[in-house]
Amino acid sequence: MEILSCENVAFKYNESTDYAISDCTFSVKKGEKIMLCGASGSGKSTLLRLLKRELSPRGELSGDITLMGKDRSELSDRESAEKIGFVMQSPDSQTVCDKVSAELAFGLESFGVKSGEIQSRVGEMAAFFGIEPLYDRDISTLSGGQKQRVAIARAVVNEPKILLADEPTGALDSKSGQQIMELFEKLNEEGVTIVMITNDAKVAH
Ligand code: ADP
Repeated sequence: MEILSCENVAFKYNESTDYAISDCTFSVKKGEKIMLCGASGSGKSTLLRLLKRELSPRGELSGDITLMGKDRSELSDRESAEKIGFVMQSPDSQTVCDKVSAELAFGLESFGVKSGEIQSRVGEMAAFFGIEPLYDRDISTLSGGQKQRVAIARAVVNEPKILLADEPTGALDSKSGQQIMELFEKLNEEGVTIVMITNDAKVAH
């Protein structure tokens, strides 16, 4: 079953005369892990951001983007925020709280999830991601790999159907990068559909 499809998608930034994306058609089945590869400037980040409405750049969009059976514009704000997770390249640019524990609970609190459920979901995620020892730490004291682990856990605690990742290992050393890739593998085995940008030819096969 298709969980995501793009048909004849084209996009032009407001301030630009050239198309950043043109004639883009592909689909992703539920449970798949897809790597988006291509030269720098070929439109990968733009495309990924168009799949998450609240991160989408301003410009002229045409074609059809369907997510979880609905046109992109028909998703509710909550569906887009909760069910489509997004992990950025820089571990420093995507956390909003000081403490790891607060960061993991942040999204659930904003969706009005009851505190008992928040505690159990956050505990479960911390165990899955092996970040229990970091739970009470300030995020600023963590390594890049640890921060990225927290950022992924924060996206996954909302139980997304699709996880989008824009070069999530691009700012990490190779060992931390490999650990993060293993984490995505584990999530995919748990049934999360993953669409990831990578410039690393080794993981792109
Ligand atoms: P990639 O992720 O493959 O490196 P991008 O999606 O970042 O590619 O960029 C695609 C094209 O859109 C490039 O030509 C880039 O210069 C242009 N672009 C990216 N961001 C903006 C922006 N904010 N405004 C105008 N053009 C942009």
